[in-house]
Amino acid sequence: MQAVDLSHPVVTGMQVFPGDPGVFLRNAASVEQDGFQVAELHLGSHTGTHLDAPLHTVPGGAGVDRLPLETLMGPARIIPVAEPAEYGCIRWQDVAGGMHGLAPGTIVLFRTGWSSCFNTPRYLRHPFFEAEIAVRLLAAGVRTVGVDTLNPDPTPAPGSSGPVDLPFHDEFLGAGGAIIENLTNLDAVTWTDPWFSALPLRLSEVDGSPVRAAAFQL
Ligand SMILES: [Zn+2]
Repeated sequence: MQAVDLSHPVVTGMQVFPGDPGVFLRNAASVEQDGFQVAELHLGSHTGTHLDAPLHTVPGGAGVDRLPLETLMGPARIIPVAEPAEYGCIRWQDVAGGMHGLAPGTIVLFRTGWSSCFNTPRYLRHPFFEAEIAVRLLAAGVRTVGVDTLNPDPTPAPGSSGPVDLPFHDEFLGAGGAIIENLTNLDAVTWTDPWFSALPLRLSEVDGSPVRAAAFQL
């Protein structure tokens, strides 16, 4: 079986959504002093490649511990997005061609290539997906969708204030679905119909969790 890791490495100082907790890792115990090594992790629930549970935007929605695991692993389809632009809106007609014959329950992963500028300011100026795409995916029976950007919705410029508009999130999470963000390495999946897995930690009543996302050739 072949596996492709679709996750960014979690390292101190890595890029996060503007205003989110910073990522800081250090050793809290060492073999030299304690006889064993233990790391201390400081990170937000939306660190690196991670999963958004309904609770992220829906008050009272399911946290990561209440998502059905069978919806977070299974057959996937990678849909390429041609020539995405900074702050560009990706519309249904841009991706509809990749949706033919989609079986209900398929995990849909959009490949824009934006992951190549992770950890740079340009990563924040990513393209975004119109909410109509969320509506169409839900109608097709898709319950898990992944993107190789920070956010399927537009990310406000650093320093802007006030509540953020998240229409794609509102549609998809509002229907009980899950969104995986900050995927990377999707172009290394060179075969069709990969099997995909991205399981969150069992964090009680928490809105998101880092995942180890991977594609498998069974
Ligand atoms: Zn998130």
